[in-house]
Amino acid sequence: MDAPAWHDVSAPLAVHERRWGFDEAAAFVTEQFESFSPDMARLARRAFEGRWIEAEDRPGKRAGGFCTSFPIARQSRIFMTFAGMPANVETLAHELGHAFHHSVVEDLPPLVQHYPMSLAETASTFAELVVSEGAIRQAESPHERIALLDRRLSAATDYLMNIRARFLFETAFYREREQGQVSVARLNALMEQAQKEAYRHALSSYHPHFWASKLHFYLTGHPFYNFPYTFGFLFSHGVYARARSEGSRFASTYAALLRDTGRMTVEELARRHLGADLTRRAFWDEACAAAVAPLDDFLRLTADGMPPEERGR
Ligand SMILES: [Zn+2]
Repeated sequence: MDAPAWHDVSAPLAVHERRWGFDEAAAFVTEQFESFSPDMARLARRAFEGRWIEAEDRPGKRAGGFCTSFPIARQSRIFMTFAGMPANVETLAHELGHAFHHSVVEDLPPLVQHYPMSLAETASTFAELVVSEGAIRQAESPHERIALLDRRLSAATDYLMNIRARFLFETAFYREREQGQVSVARLNALMEQAQKEAYRHALSSYHPHFWASKLHFYLTGHPFYNFPYTFGFLFSHGVYARARSEGSRFASTYAALLRDTGRMTVEELARRHLGADLTRRAFWDEACAAAVAPLDDFLRLTADGMPPEERGR
């Protein structure tokens, strides 16, 4: 088989995805949270019943999601667009993960309620994982299961390769910029070099103009708007691997870990709450293994190509 091109990496599987009603998604997310932590489920119920979420899909409203806290009122608000796709169910879980994080620090002194973005994305990705695992477990057809596994694997490719390439590019760019202006030809070269390294030279073509089209490189207040995502992705998978092996008693450890995110370094957090040393490989190897774990299932289900589409669903 030929090596895939840059654009093949994000090519859709073109399977029929299940459609969700908002109430159905709300019940599902709450139920999955409940299976891990009753406190997380309680927060989700408060959010739904208190109408904290503006999710209407209407003309002119963009896709995506956002969550912010109101520390004095001890509430959060979520602004998102729910169009009934599995991705929207994940966004709902993601934003509620942020809201849960806000809720576990809300009674702390204001100065330790602020945590870095890398740890904010840990709470949201963790909540997404809880819901995604539940959805995969309960998938009603091989197609639905394949689509859900594909979403997880695409996320792993994004965070570990695409976003890593952005980090490598930005690192190289800042180094050259110290010496003077960086030409377009040079930017293209640095971009392609970064992509080749991050994708381990596995693609047949790359995207040298990626630096021109990606908004994040132009957020001057947030240089390296890529590292926190990959870090949060991997750290949350490491935490999730722990949650899986420890079961429901991990819920209180998880809340205690989130509570300390504004007053400890991440190395201290991991040492205190997970007994893990983040300066060593072992934790990260476990996190990577968790991130690519859906691969076996995906390959098994697609070994003979895509199974035939079911009728009557
Ligand atoms: Zn987020």
